[in-house]
Order: sequence, then structure tokens, then C-alpha cells
Amino acid sequence: MANPRRKNSKARSRNRRAHYYSRLEAPTTMECPNCGETKLMHHACPACGQYRGRQIVDRKEIA
Ligand SMILES: [Zn+2]
Repeated sequence: MANPRRKNSKARSRNRRAHYYSRLEAPTTMECPNCGETKLMHHACPACGQYRGRQIVDRKEIA
């Protein structure tokens, strides 16, 4: 079986994880331009159901 010759150093692991460690928690949020509610980026607003100025989800479906 192929085997790694050396254990990865802490610096090597941390260096690799530097790209996503900051994103493990707290997804990026923004204020909905329509109703001002806090919502996830690139997602339809949970309050008014709009995304990029278009009605995507009917409010009656949610509430
Ligand atoms: Zn909204």
C-alpha cells in the first residue's frame, strides 16, 4: 500500500485550512433590498420570498 513518508506538520494542515476555517461558522448574510430582513447571500429572502427583485417563493407557502 502506498504510504505517506512523513506526518503533515501543523503548519501544513493549518495552512491548507486557512482557506475555509473562517467560513466554518457564521454564513455570510445581507439585508434584503426589498424588506430589509437579514437573509443569506444568494438565497431567496425568507420574509418576502424575493430574490434579485423577482418574486420566487409565495409568502402564503411559507406562512
Ligand atoms: Zn425580503
